[in-house]
Order: sequence, then structure tokens, then C-alpha cells
Amino acid sequence: MDRLSEDKRVGKVYLVGSGPGDPELLTIKAKRLIESADVIVYDHLPGPEILGMMPGGSEKIDAGKRAGDHRIPQHQINELLIRKAREGKSVVRLKGGDPYLFGRGGEEAAELRRAGIPVEVVPGITSAIAAPAYAGIPVTHRDHASMLTIITGHEDPAKRETALDWKLLAEFEGTLIILMGVKMLKENTRELLKHGKDPKTPVAIIERGTRPDQRTTRGTLDEIARIAEEEGVRAPAVIVIGSVAALGE
Ligand code: SAH
Repeated sequence: MDRLSEDKRVGKVYLVGSGPGDPELLTIKAKRLIESADVIVYDHLPGPEILGMMPGGSEKIDAGKRAGDHRIPQHQINELLIRKAREGKSVVRLKGGDPYLFGRGGEEAAELRRAGIPVEVVPGITSAIAAPAYAGIPVTHRDHASMLTIITGHEDPAKRETALDWKLLAEFEGTLIILMGVKMLKENTRELLKHGKDPKTPVAIIERGTRPDQRTTRGTLDEIARIAEEEGVRAPAVIVIGSVAALGE
């Protein structure tokens, strides 16, 4: 069998960013693919409105479902995507925000390519920028910040092999955005303060950004962990640290 006819039998996987939650922030391409896919593999980040757009005829697989206390392991998700594509299906792997920003999109794309499956990425609007925007916070501003760094707050700063250089981050003069940072907020702010970041640096935390129940909690670096605890701040939330965080109040 020649290559062309072989390829015809293989489907394709689209790594699609669903944006931060407001369904109107979905790209036209994402909407078209969601509406025409044979299979949609999703987790919970896209939010109820977007999940509600999936057509009745498509197979929907919840990859965020917990078995006991564990999510479906990544290798099983990869295997699932490969299997469905090999059945000749058009598969949408739907991810919150942008698929290549802390979404494991890069890992999934590499696995699929290794398996010889055609992959296409459809970028999405990331929560890292859109959630602050909906709260009135521009992540750069000529009078405030000309640089932007986006980090994961998920890592425990106490662990020795951490990939984050907190000294460098404390000295960084641009806007610092932390995703997945609610649980470690106390440890991470302590780390910045320890390395000399101004305790009065403004901080804003935007929960459920761009969704109808978006909420913003504000404070300064030295107090935000306490305030967040008092306010019951929960994931998903974007944490903005820097003078832009005082804008939009
Ligand atoms: N790829 C996603 C990020 C995945 S990591 C993106 O580009 O947005 C998951 C983290 O994203 C969450 O812990 C939270 O920090 C952030 N996040 C995603 N959606 C969010 C939303 N609607 N509001 C606030 N934070 C959100």
C-alpha cells in the first residue's frame, strides 16, 4: 500500500485551546473543530458552557475524570488519542486556555508524532492574560512593566530540584504571573520576600477568570496569602504580581 492511501486511514488529532472559559473567547477554528469532531477528549478546565457546545453525535471522553483519587494518567490519554486516530477518527483534544502553556500539549504532540499520527495545534486565548484583562489589569503597561514572566506555582519551593529560580524571580522587574499557584501561595510569596522583593508589591488573584462568577482578590505581597485564605480563594486562579496588579480597581 502506498503512503498516501495508508495516511488516508489514519485520522488526525487537533490539540485545541478552548480559551479561559467565556465561550465567546473560543476561536472560530476551535468552534468549527468542536462541532465537527468524531471524538472529543476533554478535561474540566474548558468550563460548562464550552463543554455544552459539543454536538450530540460525537463521542465525548472525560479525561479529567478521577478514578478513586487519580486522574487518568497521561500515558493512557496519549494511548487513547493514538487509538482513536488509528481508527480513522477526527479527534479534538480540548484543553483550557492555550494548549501549549502548562497544558502538557507539547508532550501530547510529541507522543502523537512519534506514533505517526498527524497533529495540528489550534492556539487558544490563555487565562494567564485574559483573566487579568477581564479584571482590568493589562499585563504590560508602558508606565509599569515592559516584561512578563509566566510560571507554575505548583512546585514546592522547598524541594531541592525545583526548576524555579526564586532569586531571579524576586529581582525581576516585570509582571510575574503564577498559574496553578493557589495551593502554594504562602510558600511562593515567602520565597519572593526572602529574596528581597518589595513587600508592598501589589498582587491580584483572579479566580474563574472570564466566567460569570469571576472574582478578584487584591493585596500586597506580604499580606496576600493571609487575605486569600480568609477569602477562601480556590483554583483555578491566576495570580498577578507587580505594579500592574493595582490597576483596574
Ligand atoms: N493552558 C492553560 C493553563 C493550564 S494550567 C491556559 O493557557 O490558560 C491550569 C491553570 O491555569 C490553573 O491552575 C489556573 O492557574 C489557570 N487557569 C485556567 N483557566 C483559568 C480561569 N478561567 N481563571 C483563572 N485561572 C485559570
